[in-house]
Amino acid sequence: MPPATGLAEHLIHAPAGRQRLEVPFFAGNLTSDQLRNLAGFADACADGVLMVTADQDIAFLLAEGLSVPEAAIVLQEATGFSAADGAGIILRVCPGTHECRMGLAATRDVAADIQAAVGNRTSGLTWALSGCPNSCTQPQLADVGIVAARLVSADDGSKTPRFDLYRREGAGLGQKVEESLPLGELLEKVRRIT
Ligand code: SF4
Repeated sequence: MPPATGLAEHLIHAPAGRQRLEVPFFAGNLTSDQLRNLAGFADACADGVLMVTADQDIAFLLAEGLSVPEAAIVLQEATGFSAADGAGIILRVCPGTHECRMGLAATRDVAADIQAAVGNRTSGLTWALSGCPNSCTQPQLADVGIVAARLVSADDGSKTPRFDLYRREGAGLGQKVEESLPLGELLEKVRRIT
């Protein structure tokens, strides 16, 4: 029996005559209204199916004969979304302390800080941020990987996260290039990457 892939093959690789449209969302952040609008677009243009990609964006396998430029216009008119929106930084982010009890850092807040630090100057790099060493977003498989690796206690008893930074070049796993950075130093390092 062939291994199960989870999704039907035609949804992963667009078959002849069908094109795939991806709409980027920074750090996978979507409101319920946005998701409802995208579901409406999926009903109209993509057989009622929308998919979350590995980078936490939304993908559609467009109805037969519908091109990406045509669909992008429909998408913009119906939902206000542009396939070019959010294209500045591709960053996958785990829930961190927002929702996961293993988390050491408020990952969505850190992601927003990273976005503010690097803006649109990422040159097509992929980024991944994990809130603990469990590495659920696979930072070692991103061009730039960030892991909240430990907590450090201050004299007043408060605890703040320290981050390890990974860089991946080539086909292997990313290598740790910085260790135990406070947030401010992490942001300074990522600014230099871009
Ligand atoms: S990497 Fe850690 S904090 Fe993030 S989802 Fe996984 S277990 Fe939770």
